[in-house]
Amino acid sequence: MSSDNIASVLTENRVFPPPAEFAARARLNAEKLAALHAEAQADHTGFWAGLAKKNLGWQTPFTQVLDDSAAPNYRWFTDGKLNASANCLDRHLLARGDKIAIRFEGEKGDTRNYTYKQLHAEVCKLANVLKAQGVNKGDRVVIYMPMAPEAVIAMQACARIGAIHSVVFGGFSASSLKDRIEDTGARLLITADGGHRAGNIVPLKKVADEALAAGCKTIGKVIVHQRTSHGVDMQAGRDLWWHELMDTASERCEPEWVESEHPLFLLYTSGSTGKPKGIQHSTGGYLLGATMTTQWVFDIRDDDVFWCTADVGWITGHSYVAYGPLANGATILMYEGAPTIPDAGRFWKICQDHGVTIFYTAPTAIRALMKLGEEWPNKYDLSKLRLLGSVGEPINPEAWMWYHRVIGKERLPIVDTWWQTETGAIMIAPVPGAITTKPGSCTKPLPGICVEVVDEAGTPIREQDAGGYLVVSKPWPSMLRTVWGDNERYIKTYWGQFQNKYYVAGDSTHRDADGCYWIMGRVDDVLNVSGHRLGTMEVESALVSHPRIAEAAVVGRPHEVKGESVFAFVIAKGPRPTGEEADKLAKELRDHVAKEIGALAKPDDIRFADNLPKTRSGKIMRRLLRSIAKGEEITQDTSTLENPAIVAQLSGKA
Ligand code: ATP
Ligand code: MG
Repeated sequence: MSSDNIASVLTENRVFPPPAEFAARARLNAEKLAALHAEAQADHTGFWAGLAKKNLGWQTPFTQVLDDSAAPNYRWFTDGKLNASANCLDRHLLARGDKIAIRFEGEKGDTRNYTYKQLHAEVCKLANVLKAQGVNKGDRVVIYMPMAPEAVIAMQACARIGAIHSVVFGGFSASSLKDRIEDTGARLLITADGGHRAGNIVPLKKVADEALAAGCKTIGKVIVHQRTSHGVDMQAGRDLWWHELMDTASERCEPEWVESEHPLFLLYTSGSTGKPKGIQHSTGGYLLGATMTTQWVFDIRDDDVFWCTADVGWITGHSYVAYGPLANGATILMYEGAPTIPDAGRFWKICQDHGVTIFYTAPTAIRALMKLGEEWPNKYDLSKLRLLGSVGEPINPEAWMWYHRVIGKERLPIVDTWWQTETGAIMIAPVPGAITTKPGSCTKPLPGICVEVVDEAGTPIREQDAGGYLVVSKPWPSMLRTVWGDNERYIKTYWGQFQNKYYVAGDSTHRDADGCYWIMGRVDDVLNVSGHRLGTMEVESALVSHPRIAEAAVVGRPHEVKGESVFAFVIAKGPRPTGEEADKLAKELRDHVAKEIGALAKPDDIRFADNLPKTRSGKIMRRLLRSIAKGEEITQDTSTLENPAIVAQLSGKA
């Protein structure tokens, strides 16, 4: 894509400097942040080495910082040894042993707390259980669990003995679970009888049984945590109850000291762009990324209660539930359940009841809660909140403003964080005490993260106010190491486009005159209308800025004259408009887009629906919408869809 013909519609010009009160107490103010950037620029590897020494506990200190001899397979801190679980737990026992590590609330209102001492004991016990079941360093363990503390305990226990965990989101089907288990070659599965979601039981064990019946020959044992007690089949010789094994396990377990490059986990990307890839992360580099970004972006302090709403099945739940906050000795909140049970105020009630200070969620959740009305958050005392975050998709400026006004009461900073499963940790985001934010922009790269905008030819675009491919030009510690079992795919997917010179994120971006980044969506999502390049995100934001619209997804449809025409799927606030009302609103929306962006962005087609097809992680599945827009029969794999039934309605058949 060339920089000059992206129809720039970035008319968003509201700016929000860091609130003075926040900046005064923040870990990083503008001056300190500038010093970090200067340090990183002067000596990229020295900068990261300094942080790694200061912020992680090493059993054997490293002497080599970056090994680029096999680039783009980079290695960090290679001769150092450490253990991720010792960093997250043992390190805090002396000073914070009685501090709460995890506050948990279930959908039915049941609560449980774990202090650092208690969490440490549980992790050691499970680590001993795993060892007794024959799990060794380097073995893979698949975790298919509800969003309960046991999921974190399982991850930490694997890390403690050097086993490589691969968490599969509890919403995935038997066939998705089977594919992932088989790709990892795991020898043990940790699951639960079930989980609670929206008043129902998610039958995890049943789904796991189906997956195992269909294949997964490497799995020898299944450890089952009892959560719902609804009665499940236990296969003799294979299935073991978690509580029975834990009863007799010792609370002492010496951590297995592993090389910095030892894989900590594999995590499969959500599949919104095709066959899932097993993203492999390292121990030392990954943990450093998770640790530093929790300090820089979330300004974490000892008195915080940090709530990241992401499930541990996603990278966000790895870096900002299971590892980053614990490595910093923080208190996290975990909630298992839907945001609207028993009513639309649940998230806000949890914030109030647990004194949540930092709240981190996804735009899809923000838009859903926005649709339910501000009377819900207004019922609760949200005064303890001091920082809000967003991740997963571009956040439309209107949703940002709602978050700012209704949840943040116009006093809290918002951190819009851009990163990926592959990057391991946040890459571009405002440092809240230092950076002026703009609704819809993730602002600037963090210290030590070297981002460029390049054109088709891979030439960095130097001018201000330009768009292109988002790439990373220098290796960073928390970067993925490879695609499990397929290094060729790693090189081709992430480095191939520009001859191994840059890590290619696959997202397109715009950088404005202040050096702030605006993510325009995936490269594949850019439309070409009459020779003009339009980001789907821009048209969607224009649609959502109309007072009657809650959510929109835009795709291109092949068009004889224009090349592509704009096809919009739109969710209105309130009931779905039909008949004349729909026609009238569609006309209004076309005029509105023309006014906001320009006539060329006007959608030729507008289809109203009750919802959009979302992946299990809440992202709009655009490749499916592209097929629907073309009028194709849907033959694609929809197994990762949250709401498969919506496809018929979107196709105009219901
Ligand atoms: P797959 O790679 O399987 O298609 P995925 O890319 O959705 O799945 P993730 O790694 O969870 O899986 O998501 C990373 C992507 O999410 C980014 O590449 C980007 O497109 C989008 N994204 C994440 N955070 C932001 C953000 N703050 N602003 C804009 N886009 C974001
Ligand atoms: Mg991706």
